[in-house]
Amino acid sequence: MQRITTKLLQPVEWQTNARCAEVDPEIFFPERGGSSKAARAVCGQCEVRMQCLEYALNNKEQFGIWGGTSERERRRLRKERTLRRLRAVS
Ligand code: SF4
Repeated sequence: MQRITTKLLQPVEWQTNARCAEVDPEIFFPERGGSSKAARAVCGQCEVRMQCLEYALNNKEQFGIWGGTSERERRRLRKERTLRRLRAVS
């Protein structure tokens, strides 16, 4: 139970410095085929971008822009990491 609680509380710390808290959250969830340019611009200026991206990758966030990446980009990053891990142990 403690592990779950710790996991849930982890993002709170870095999210206090999240740049997206200052803008309309809708821009981080563009419609299919819509532009993510505005969200990516905000992420590009965010000091917790890497923590955000790691959180999204570790929690398999499927929707929205996290750490300046789209769902598709995060899927690709997760695949690359998995392949790297497999190569490292073989
Ligand atoms: S990287 Fe982007 S989505 Fe993540 S906390 Fe910063 S502004 Fe928000």
